[in-house]
Amino acid sequence: MSAAKATSGNLFADDPAFQVTAQTISVLPPLPLAGPYDYIVPEGISVQFGDFVEIPLGRQTQRGVVWGDAKGDVEPSKLREIYGVLPAEPMPDVTRKFIDWVSAYTMAPQGAVLRMAMSVPDALEQPKPIFRFTLNADFDASGLRMTPPRKRVLAFLAENPAMEQGDILRETGAGASVVKGLVEAGAVRRLMVKPPSPFDAPDLTIPRPNLSDEQTIAADALCERVDAGGFSCTLLDGITGSGKTEVYFEPIRAALAEGKQVVVLLPEIALSAQWLQRFRDRFGVVPALWHSEVGQARRRDTWRAVADGSVQLVVGARSALFLPFRDLALIVVDEEHEHAFKQEDGVIYHARDMAVTRAHLGNIPIVLASATPSLETLANVDAGRYYRVELGSRHGAAVLPSVEVIDIRQDKPERLRWITPTLKKRLAETFANGEQAMLFLNRRGYAPLTLCRACGHRFQCPNCTAWLVEHRAWGKLQCHHCGYQAKAPDACPACGEEGKLAPCGPGVERLYEEAVETFPNIRIEVATSDNIMGPKAAAELVQRVHNHEVDLLIGTQILAKGYHFPMLTLVGVVDADLGLAGGDLRAAERSYQLLTQVAGRAGRGDRPGTVMLQTADPANRVIKAIAAGDRNAFNEVELSQRMTHGMPPHGRLAALIISGKKENEVDEAAWRIGRAAPRGDGLMVLGPAPAPLSLLRGRYRRRFLIRADKTVKMQALIHEWLSKVKTPGSVRVQVDIDPYSFM
Ligand code: ADP
Ligand code: ZN
Repeated sequence: MSAAKATSGNLFADDPAFQVTAQTISVLPPLPLAGPYDYIVPEGISVQFGDFVEIPLGRQTQRGVVWGDAKGDVEPSKLREIYGVLPAEPMPDVTRKFIDWVSAYTMAPQGAVLRMAMSVPDALEQPKPIFRFTLNADFDASGLRMTPPRKRVLAFLAENPAMEQGDILRETGAGASVVKGLVEAGAVRRLMVKPPSPFDAPDLTIPRPNLSDEQTIAADALCERVDAGGFSCTLLDGITGSGKTEVYFEPIRAALAEGKQVVVLLPEIALSAQWLQRFRDRFGVVPALWHSEVGQARRRDTWRAVADGSVQLVVGARSALFLPFRDLALIVVDEEHEHAFKQEDGVIYHARDMAVTRAHLGNIPIVLASATPSLETLANVDAGRYYRVELGSRHGAAVLPSVEVIDIRQDKPERLRWITPTLKKRLAETFANGEQAMLFLNRRGYAPLTLCRACGHRFQCPNCTAWLVEHRAWGKLQCHHCGYQAKAPDACPACGEEGKLAPCGPGVERLYEEAVETFPNIRIEVATSDNIMGPKAAAELVQRVHNHEVDLLIGTQILAKGYHFPMLTLVGVVDADLGLAGGDLRAAERSYQLLTQVAGRAGRGDRPGTVMLQTADPANRVIKAIAAGDRNAFNEVELSQRMTHGMPPHGRLAALIISGKKENEVDEAAWRIGRAAPRGDGLMVLGPAPAPLSLLRGRYRRRFLIRADKTVKMQALIHEWLSKVKTPGSVRVQVDIDPYSFM
């Protein structure tokens, strides 16, 4: 079967000198700068769109995907032949369409996007067959020379289905040569079988938990969308602890029951042990995982199983969207507001937005879940593009925690301390009641800045516009942008004075020091990405907290997500103003979301919870909105401000980042790009300006910010703009559509 037609649309087709008879196609290699190139399919090979093929490219052999008909932009006599088709399921049409769409939207070359969909080269190899052995029923054993081991093997096989050699040898004590001899004699047959799927099918007989009325209504609405089929996007909008997970398990079950596939995107999959356990309780199996820490062999098996449909449920990070699903019927994006869904390097894309597109192209429903939905999603609900189902109360007896604001200007901590007397008192009461507490400070390390008290020298990263963060546990100063490390010195490198270096401000390590001195008899643990690395460490920590082996948990934002600890009744936010400092477009929104999520960890069981926010700015609207529990009021103000300035979701943004190793080249290129900047109604171009991180990993960086009305075709505009300017190869121009980082 061949879906590729002969050379339609070929520029040279009308020219008799170039009449071609061979079939030509275009093939896309997974290379960062590539688009599809034309090739000839040699006689005797048949290909279809989506096939993985081997091709000559330059002097190398490359792999690629048959993307479509030949483009016809190269004279046919110059085309080369493909080498052959690889033994893998062809990439589905919808995946190829999705890659084209992501490429067009993000302005990244198609090959760069394809690369994300071909991240497991091994999956394209012939799967290693496995062999099983069984009795040959037609064999006349009378002439067979019998030995005791042969007898044992034959007897064993007579009583069992086809067995693998390892099992036979173990059960009978015979050597491999015995089995081999029996096969050669014809008494035993060797069968080649497809390896069994390493993924167990979900158990759909486990009864659904007793859902509350509100949960039932929400779950039924979502199941109806699955049953109805076709594209729809639904926001599952429920407060923290309302049971969103239990609710979206129901449409997942509905899709699985139809034998279809489901993908769930989680922002921090490596930390999601509790989520996985709940999935296991509901469906009896562990889902296939897809994230950067999954090993190569497992990735290969998963990729193949997704392609041939033998695995039904994948839980993954954003890259799971690019898997070649054979029959995807539902997408769930949990914590849809999370900025972790935005990929900031390589192909710059937002996985939540691309997931909606993937659902659209696949004509299937998608569910976005959050307690603090993004303004973009809320605007889509308001515009009638997305449905909304709501969960307004916590599950069971739990109620939302009460929020108290502590003004640190009045209620001052001691010198070089960060816990206010009020919070200290509440912590002591919590421990005395046998309950657990959490202190949240979104700063890794000991201190964010080290200063020389003699000369004022500050330790800065040599590769980045950033201070070095002290990590006292390792005796190091570290850059959180590029990973640069230096040993913490005794003497100041600038003035040579010894013993004058002082840490400025707190990180979680320093807060830990304070907590240990303040509460010497309680059990305290710190959780940051520095010590909770990977799923195992996260699961163990969760277990310890659950078993109440920890009284006080101190940590960064990794503690904000999804965890459920029934005995945790007090959450102290040490510096509620921290996230508001950056002042970028979404600083208030992000801070609101983060603080709400952190607060949402308190009081999830039978005992009511309290959240204490330490702030120097109690009048700030983010603090006030959280204290009042008034999400709508906050969002309305935020949305109206965005509207006034034409900012997303009311207008569109894009950024250009010009970077290179030589500052003068970068400035020159940025200046030239600036001179060619487009002008027009509903359009504003800011820049070039040095990026806040004007030096990052040794590269100088300049930025442009483009704001446009929604009617402006942003990609076309940028494409035309950049095509007018030539920049040297040593300068990189990155396009960031819908930027979330303004650094
Ligand atoms: P959310 O994601 O909305 O914060 P979760 O889905 O984590 O809420 O639910 C909070 C807790 O309540 C979890 O431990 C969950 O297992 C439990 N829960 C929610 N709904 C039910 C239910 N209907 N039956 C039993 N337990 C439930
Ligand atoms: Zn650095």
